[in-house]
Amino acid sequence: MEKFKAIINNKEIDSNSWLDIMDPTSEQVYAQVSALSAEEIDLAFKAAKSAQKDWEATSVKKRIEFLIRWKDLMLKNEEDLATTMMHEIAKAYKDCLTEVRRTAEYIDLTISEYNDLDILTFDKNSKGITEDIVAEYKRIAKGVGVAISPFNYPINLAVSKLAPGLLTGNTFVFKPATQGSVIGIKIGKLAIEAGIPAGVLNVVTGRGRDIGDVIVTNPLIDFISFTGSVPVGRRLMQISSSKDLVLELGGKDAAILLDDHNLENIAKDIVAGAFSYSGQRCTAIKRVITTDAIANKIAPLIKEEIAKLTIGLPSENPIITPMIDTKSADFVTDLINDAITKGASLVYGGNRNKNLLQPTLLDHVSVDMNVAWEEPFGPVLPIIRINEIDEIIEVANKSNFGLQTSIYSKNIDLAYQVAEKLEVGTVNINRRTQRGPDVLPFLGVKDSGFGVQGIKETILSTTRYRGIIIKK
Ligand code: NAD
Repeated sequence: MEKFKAIINNKEIDSNSWLDIMDPTSEQVYAQVSALSAEEIDLAFKAAKSAQKDWEATSVKKRIEFLIRWKDLMLKNEEDLATTMMHEIAKAYKDCLTEVRRTAEYIDLTISEYNDLDILTFDKNSKGITEDIVAEYKRIAKGVGVAISPFNYPINLAVSKLAPGLLTGNTFVFKPATQGSVIGIKIGKLAIEAGIPAGVLNVVTGRGRDIGDVIVTNPLIDFISFTGSVPVGRRLMQISSSKDLVLELGGKDAAILLDDHNLENIAKDIVAGAFSYSGQRCTAIKRVITTDAIANKIAPLIKEEIAKLTIGLPSENPIITPMIDTKSADFVTDLINDAITKGASLVYGGNRNKNLLQPTLLDHVSVDMNVAWEEPFGPVLPIIRINEIDEIIEVANKSNFGLQTSIYSKNIDLAYQVAEKLEVGTVNINRRTQRGPDVLPFLGVKDSGFGVQGIKETILSTTRYRGIIIKK
């Protein structure tokens, strides 16, 4: 079995302990990665700290040249990266390949969206400034960043933190999710091959619950960018040594149908939004809210579309693949059983073979059922029937999450009015909830996080103003 070593200061670390990485499809150990100790993690921060000033002093042109070489190497190795991802997280091979290519495009976009960082100058020509003062406020790198990514998009959600932050002159301690660690190490190695100086990108591995606290409390941290679940995000807020956090957490995105226009296409859109990668996406549609009359029409159409979904091995490129682990599959099964026990109707699915779950549609889901509120992160879609529009908005907003919502309607004005009342980061009118296009800001409110991702926003959030005021 292959072993993959964490990377600190451009060196592979000979750690004494190893962490098993499972292949969720075979449920066998696929590889092992270093399980770093607290001392080793501290070395990663020291390496990042000592490399930072030199990296910041490196010209932007050189930093861009590095990013281009890194991107080219990702593309050159796309088949290996996609195959590794397929084994580590059981995502359909073609979707893994798409993710690698989208990540390469993300790097290109980062470079093209980057303009020289702001310099603001204030002197006697500025309001309220006396003649004897000149002030300059320049955006500079924040310093040492921590990037922590989740399992479901192991390249994209890592590089979307790292590429803008490296371009602006920061160095990183990057911790991939356990399932996703081999990919994390592989992109770290490609960064070395692309010529990244020692200490600029350190990849630390180990189980989150074992090393998470050690990472986020390191005193050398200047900022943290985290994508993952709400409980871990909350803990990070409580104990982190940095006040500077971007958190992108879970979601309970609703699809709200305001009328019965175009239902066949909407059913297709909803099913694609709810079930791709078995629903293991933060922006997956996780509930449908609509009136009785519309639900009576859309439920059979959604059922028809679900029945067409392919189920199988990631190498066969189906839509539904095994879930990341048995515990996560158990959680979804519990949600389905709780709903059925409390009176929901099982319209489709409900069966399971180990961690491979049939895509499941539940109708007549009421607000006392857990599936109405919890993020399943798996292939189950509840339909909640509510007849008054104000109440639909109320239930949509009652969720603790606030990532995205979809509103489907032929009446764009009405949809817009409803959109303005929803407590989420982004509302999609007549399109399913999703991240992207990548130049758009991406954010959640309430328990879905705070701070904004997106290329320009990450360039901003990895830099700060430094003011220098001269009295003549
Ligand atoms: P997770 O919270 O279990 O893990 C995320 C990362 O945190 C992993 O790298 C993990 O190792 C690490 N971690 C675990 N315990 C830690 C600790 N105590 N301190 C620091 N780090 C720790 O999430 P997951 O299961 O990998 O991903 C699924 C979750 O991520 C879902 O809730 C999903 O909605 C969310 N997600 C959000 C977005 C978004 O942009 N909003 C995108 C993708 C996934």
